Amino acid sequence: NFSKVGFIGCGNMGNPMVQNLMKKGHKVSVFDVKKSCVADLQKAGATGCSSVSEVVADADVVLTMLPANKHVLDTYTMKGGILESVKKGAYLIDSSTVDPSVSQTLAPLAKEKGATYLDGPVSGGTIGAEAGTLTFMIGGEEEAMKKVEPLLLCMGSRVVYCGKHGMGLVAKIANNMLLGISMLGVSEAMNLGIKLGMDPKTLMGILNTSTGRCWSSEMYNPVPGLLPHVPSSNDYKGGFGVALIAKDLGIAQSVAIQSGVPIPMGAQAHQMYKIMELKDMGNKDLAVAYQYLKCDK
Ligand code: NAD
Repeated sequence: NFSKVGFIGCGNMGNPMVQNLMKKGHKVSVFDVKKSCVADLQKAGATGCSSVSEVVADADVVLTMLPANKHVLDTYTMKGGILESVKKGAYLIDSSTVDPSVSQTLAPLAKEKGATYLDGPVSGGTIGAEAGTLTFMIGGEEEAMKKVEPLLLCMGSRVVYCGKHGMGLVAKIANNMLLGISMLGVSEAMNLGIKLGMDPKTLMGILNTSTGRCWSSEMYNPVPGLLPHVPSSNDYKGGFGVALIAKDLGIAQSVAIQSGVPIPMGAQAHQMYKIMELKDMGNKDLAVAYQYLKCDK
């Protein structure tokens, strides 16, 4: 029973997540360093706050949806940060896609304050956030997950327990690494076939009824004009940005190095998306990998 919910980081994902919490009757206090993000949600009925401590002071549960490691660590540990003003017994859920070590660092610090921390990254993208159909991948204590599950189901349709602290993020990073690799694989196969003279639609049909079939070929094909309503058919606008997949593959790379696990394909994919990002494709959907591989003038 959470009467007061705090939400920090109200961008592309945070905004619709807050809207869904309010639709289900929750009172939400919000903070973002960008004032316009707070104002937008205030108009929709949220309580706008001008600092982290204002959000956290009397919240029973605090969600964070921030860009990357540094933002999450700072928001928790800085002067005036979450850990300074969190209420005893509160639940703290970070849904950002960050390094699993962020969760492993913050969970014991939260415990010292009498609060319970969970990592709860999401899949489903902005479309899932708007529709309230996100999947939450949870790392931490299972009991704690059960307590917050009804709240998370206001924003998502699935809450999956992945194991101890950091394991929600491990699941998220493993999936995104595979997505990054498979998108490059499909782009490469489509480009080879088309350059050799195949009709793109026929080639896509063959892939999708053969052993090469995957989400990137079937639901999100990177060749423009083959599927309606996907970013590749809309100049690679919207969707899942190259800069974000490069960030996620960077996390995969860093945890792989620390743990000594080889990820040759993930490492290669990381470098490819990093180059695309530096070539001004950072805001384009990751399916733009097809255009990059085509090497057309
Ligand atoms: P975003 O950049 O749109 O939103 C992040 C928000 O955090 C911004 O509004 C920014 O102003 C705010 N912010 C930054 N530093 C802050 C601070 N110190 N205090 C308060 N607010 C601060 O990003 P997004 O697309 O909403 O993604 C958020 C996280 O979710 C990322 O880790 C991303 O990888 C992950 N994610 C994104 C998607 C997607 O499709 N966009 C899908 C799944 C997961």
